Amino acid sequence: MGKILIKNGKVWDGERFYFADILTDNEKISKIADDIDEYADFVYDATDKIVSPGLVDIHVHMKGIALEEFGIEPHMSSFPFGVTAVNDAGSSLGNRLLLDSFSVKNTVFVCVGIRNNHADFTATEELCRKYGDKAIGIKVYFDTTITDCSDITPLREISNYAKKHKLKVMVHCSNSPTSMVEIVEALSTGDILTHIYHGGKNSCTENNFEAFMLAREKGVMLDAGFAGYVHTDFLNFQNSINAGFLPDTISTDVTRYSAYKRGGRYGLTMCMNIAKHLGVDVEDIFRSVTSNPAKALGKENEWGHLKVGRCADIAVFDYKDEAFELTDNAGHQIIGNKGYRCVLTVVDGEIIYKD
Ligand SMILES: [Zn+2]
Repeated sequence: MGKILIKNGKVWDGERFYFADILTDNEKISKIADDIDEYADFVYDATDKIVSPGLVDIHVHMKGIALEEFGIEPHMSSFPFGVTAVNDAGSSLGNRLLLDSFSVKNTVFVCVGIRNNHADFTATEELCRKYGDKAIGIKVYFDTTITDCSDITPLREISNYAKKHKLKVMVHCSNSPTSMVEIVEALSTGDILTHIYHGGKNSCTENNFEAFMLAREKGVMLDAGFAGYVHTDFLNFQNSINAGFLPDTISTDVTRYSAYKRGGRYGLTMCMNIAKHLGVDVEDIFRSVTSNPAKALGKENEWGHLKVGRCADIAVFDYKDEAFELTDNAGHQIIGNKGYRCVLTVVDGEIIYKD
């Protein structure tokens, strides 16, 4: 492992940008300062590049943990994009041993079923036992095309269950049976609404973004959960930005479907490119993939910040030739030739990806 010295980069420390060098010592960050002139086993010149904490993707589907038809090999969909920590959203398979075997750091939100418009926790309890303290929340598909829901009843039951068991709730809100406002009303501080820019009925734009206003008041986290274009209407996203409602977190919702056929190299950097293309500024983009998602998962003391003494989870990004092309379900198109490209990923002081 030894020491890694990353020189001349523009550092995003989770809160702000500044120029500095970063030195690691075994698995920790040992120094952040101007012109560090010390021996290192590996020196990387990050001139014109952004040096960030390893990114945190709060909405992924990992093979062996997610439903079989969704799961993707967790390292291939994270490290090449600078992601060092992920949260599986809707875990149904596997166990603690498998989660511990992944090099990408992880937490899970366990799947909750809905039957006859009522929440079904039978599998949830068993799975929570299997995942142990990696299970920090529960995830519900509040979607009439996926689960048997017809009004707010199951969501209220899920919210009560989560409070009782000290778990967070993540709600998939595409094709929901109720308005987005009703969903936010049923949630508590720290719960997460994902796919917030979905198209179709019950979208975020209703009543002049009333759901987003309420979410801000209550401290409900707004997660982009792009899924490429599948759960995102680019015009809704653009209008939200214009109205001042940025996502708290940007996430991929990467699955084995999205990874290889949505717009190019689909991963968290492409989601950042979508946000940049629509006018989100660089600070807000990096905040929404580092410190904000770490906080949303209750991991702000471990992930999402570059600080002396913290784990050396670091990602370096170039901003240059990186083509992407996405057309959403309503026909809005995003085409770009420039974007973020991860060039180096370090986990616990070890180089785990190098472009
Ligand atoms: Zn998902």
